[in-house]
Amino acid sequence: MGNVSEVPKQNWLEISKSIDQLLLSSEQFPEEVNVLEEWLKRHLDKISAHRTKKDRVVIQNLADHTNRKDSLFFFDSSFNIHNYSGTQNFFSGLQIEYNQSLNLLDLVDETEKPKLVAAFDKAVAENRDVEISLKIKTDIEMLIDCVFHIDMFSSNPANDRYAASLKFGALVAAQLLEYQSLILDSLPGVDIYLLDKNYIYLFAAGKEKERFEIKNIQMFGKTIFEVLDKKAGRLIFPFVNKALQGYVNEGEIRYNKEIYYLKATPVKNYKDETTAAILFSQNITNDKKLEEQLKRGRNEALKADKLKSIFIANLSHEIRTPLNAIFGFSEQLDKTPLTDEQHKYNALIKKASDHLLYLVTEIVFLFKLGMGKVFIEKTPFSTIDLITEIMDAFSISASEKHLKLEFEISNDFPEAVIGDSYRVRQIISNLLTNAIKYTDAGSIKLECNLRKEYKHKVELQFIVSDTGIGISRKNRKKIFDVFEQGNKFNIDFRSGAGLGLSICKRLTEMLDGKIKLTSKVNVGSIFTVCLPFPKVTQLDKIPKKEKKFELDEKQKLLAGKRILLADDDEHNLILSENILKGWETDYVLLDNGEKAIEMLKKVKFDFIIVDIHMPGKNGLDVARFVKTTSNQNSNTPIFFITANAFHTDINNYMKAGFHGFLIKPFKEAELYSKICNLLQVAPLSYSKTGKLKSKGVLNIDKFRTDDLLKTASGDRPFFEKMINNFIDGAESLLIEFKQSAASINWQQVGEKSHKAITSFKYFGLFETVSLLEKIEENTLRKLDTKQAAQLMKKVSPRIESIIDQAKATLIR
Ligand code: ADP
Repeated sequence: MGNVSEVPKQNWLEISKSIDQLLLSSEQFPEEVNVLEEWLKRHLDKISAHRTKKDRVVIQNLADHTNRKDSLFFFDSSFNIHNYSGTQNFFSGLQIEYNQSLNLLDLVDETEKPKLVAAFDKAVAENRDVEISLKIKTDIEMLIDCVFHIDMFSSNPANDRYAASLKFGALVAAQLLEYQSLILDSLPGVDIYLLDKNYIYLFAAGKEKERFEIKNIQMFGKTIFEVLDKKAGRLIFPFVNKALQGYVNEGEIRYNKEIYYLKATPVKNYKDETTAAILFSQNITNDKKLEEQLKRGRNEALKADKLKSIFIANLSHEIRTPLNAIFGFSEQLDKTPLTDEQHKYNALIKKASDHLLYLVTEIVFLFKLGMGKVFIEKTPFSTIDLITEIMDAFSISASEKHLKLEFEISNDFPEAVIGDSYRVRQIISNLLTNAIKYTDAGSIKLECNLRKEYKHKVELQFIVSDTGIGISRKNRKKIFDVFEQGNKFNIDFRSGAGLGLSICKRLTEMLDGKIKLTSKVNVGSIFTVCLPFPKVTQLDKIPKKEKKFELDEKQKLLAGKRILLADDDEHNLILSENILKGWETDYVLLDNGEKAIEMLKKVKFDFIIVDIHMPGKNGLDVARFVKTTSNQNSNTPIFFITANAFHTDINNYMKAGFHGFLIKPFKEAELYSKICNLLQVAPLSYSKTGKLKSKGVLNIDKFRTDDLLKTASGDRPFFEKMINNFIDGAESLLIEFKQSAASINWQQVGEKSHKAITSFKYFGLFETVSLLEKIEENTLRKLDTKQAAQLMKKVSPRIESIIDQAKATLIR
């Protein structure tokens, strides 16, 4: 044999065999044992690693050609172990590395030690093999029955080295089974069975069955029906049967007030034939009870949620209805001759009802957000229209506080995208409301940028900045939480309900966007909102912007139109009468749906307005009558008014065939503009169109009436006359500018521009004034008509916007 280390190291199987050969070879014994010992010391870890990996093959292999037992010890006469090979998983200290200090006596049970010592003495004294049974301690302190064989043939007493084998193969298997059963029996509520093709139990574990006084031991070798009662047998049989047909199956059964989850799995042999079935059963009664409780809890919560939602809807409806009367009558009151003081009080009533409406709207919306009842629409919309509409809406409140309101749209900003314009408007409007509210001097700006562009998507950025009071670092963290106000510690007249920003944040998140704030106290705040939108395609239809019809005393676009209005609310009827009379329409007012239907059968109308909530036949019934029966009004536009501001309800109402709607409380001007749009009446004079078609920076002058208000000192007719004069002048200037280049009279353009300058200055329109001065210069003095034409092109949209602003001051 020579040097064992010469054996090719890679082939551990061969090495293993060689060792076995060596141990058995009488000719080479005992000289080689020392070599072997040394070699084992160095390589034992590799051999055992190999054995573990190759597992059965190697062990099998060794067992085939040796009579070696499961493990082999070399120890001295003091029982110190010097070498060990073989199955070592069970012995503490041997498992990781060979431990010199391990003593054989430490591995056996206390009571067994004398037995081991006696056996050793006997073997040495008589120089023959001695075999005894021993209880060996495993690393988890279990005692295993083994056969310990002192092998004097392999021992070398001269070197004080003795060999012994340990045999525990069959016993280990039984022990493992015992372990397995212990584990399985300790699983709560679980039973596991192995059944053969004849439905006979081959194996059973688990203690759940003891509830029904059945023990595992009773089951072996018996069929399902021998062990279980009829009912249990019938319940379980189909599962086992299906598994024996090769299908995994599972389900729940109820037995003696308990509920069980069963799963049966086929066991296949190497030919893929089903030979047995494993049945797993688990008592899930408690889980089910818990599930039931959770379900009940959830249903109750849903019910409460529904009640809450109905309550909120009703509350909102109940508040909006009287608000409509307050709001509407104060608008009508303004048209009557009032003293300055009365004007002031009336303005306060309007402001207070406006605020109340804002609060109701925001609270309802926040509840809806909380209940997950806010849905996001995905429809194409014009971003430019949206931005100009928002800016229009805020121009008055900004100019009231003498704040400059600007907006800037980057050149690459898309003109249209797909998304929920209503929600985008809500976010930007809330930010602008705050910017104006918390700024006393300076300017407010809305910047719109294209942040990123992908193949099918864009990311847009809206920045609202102000030069206001700013927000401290401490408050910046809290102001996005509901009902938190930055200034609540030093009570400020402006603080609101603390809803706006939390709504902005939640809406932004719902739109998959982000909102960010930077601010410096006494310098200003910058709110940045980034929102992703799918791009519009050529197939997308972008809805046209509604034309804005101003309430204009002179025009009376609806005069003579036959309008039917049905509403059960007495206040609204009185208010509507006032409004419809003011427009000089030919109106009929009715207080319920039945009367409306009767009237519609008899008379042809130009326009129908119905309240949704009416006792008896309601607004929807009227619309259905108009749309689904053959009657002379089937093509008449029909419009609903409602105090129900819930979006989903409104969408449902619209499905009844309505052409439009207004939510109470509404402004007279809103109703007027909507009806004019639906009736497609044409205004007699110039009306603003195509504003801001071009992209880029547009700083609009703010139309200021402070000086005029002072001069007028409460004389409303004088105030209106002055404004109308200004509008007439501006409109005729605009018409002059819009003449085609061929027919233009430059002298006239110059003179008109000159003439306009004084009144434009009077209304604080300084940026436009400087452009008009340049036009005057280039037409009357320099005669650079090219330059003048360019300036006229530039100033025209500004004048359009100024005319709109001027008209807005006439609306009360
Ligand atoms: P509120 O109704 O109180 O305005 P918001 O949720 O809209 O509620 O705002 C929360 C708080 O954040 C406000 O009370 C205010 O202190 C602060 N805040 C919001 N926007 C601004 C701003 N542009 N400048 C200064 N403070 C602001």
